[in-house]
Amino acid sequence: MTNRIYSYIVVNPMIKKCKQGRSKIEEAVEGFKARCRKLGLKVTPQRIAIYKELIKTDRHPSADALYKTIKNKFPGISLDTVNRALLTFAKHGIAFIVEGTGQPKRFDADMLNHQHFICIKCKRIIDFQHRPFDNIKLPADIENKFMVLKKTVYVEGICDKCLNKSAN
Ligand SMILES: [Zn+2]
Ligand SMILES: [Zn+2]
Repeated sequence: MTNRIYSYIVVNPMIKKCKQGRSKIEEAVEGFKARCRKLGLKVTPQRIAIYKELIKTDRHPSADALYKTIKNKFPGISLDTVNRALLTFAKHGIAFIVEGTGQPKRFDADMLNHQHFICIKCKRIIDFQHRPFDNIKLPADIENKFMVLKKTVYVEGICDKCLNKSAN
C-alpha cells in the first residue's frame, strides 16, 4: 500500500545548498501557486514570500524565525499571518510540521522523503536520507484499520557542533 495519497510538490533537496538553484526555487514557487489555485487557496504576495523563504532554507524554521526574515521585505506583515499561512500549508500538504519538535513548531517544505536528526541542545534539525526508512513496513492491522498519510523516522541526540563545544 502506498502512503502517497497527496500530489506533493517535489523539490530536489540539493537546490537548497546549490547557489545556482535560483531557477529551481522559482519552479517550486510556480508549483506552489498552481497547487494553491487548485485547492482554492488565496495566492497573496505574502504567502508566496513565506513559501519561498521556507523552500529556500534547510533550517526548518519556526513561524517566528520566518517572520523575522520576511518582515524586512513586508514590513506590514504580522507574526499571526505567517503562522496561519504555515499551518494552512501544513494542512494541505504544501509543507509539514517537523515531527518531535514540540513548541515552537518547526516547518519544512521539502516534501521529498527524508529524515531528521534533531539536536536537543541547539535545536538544529539536520536532514538526512536513509532509503530503508522511506519504506517502513507497518503491522497489517494498522495498515488495514487506518489511513496512513506519512511515515517517518526522527532521531534525537546531540549534534557534532554541540559535542565539540562540551568537549572543550
Ligand atoms: Zn547541537
Ligand atoms: Zn527536513
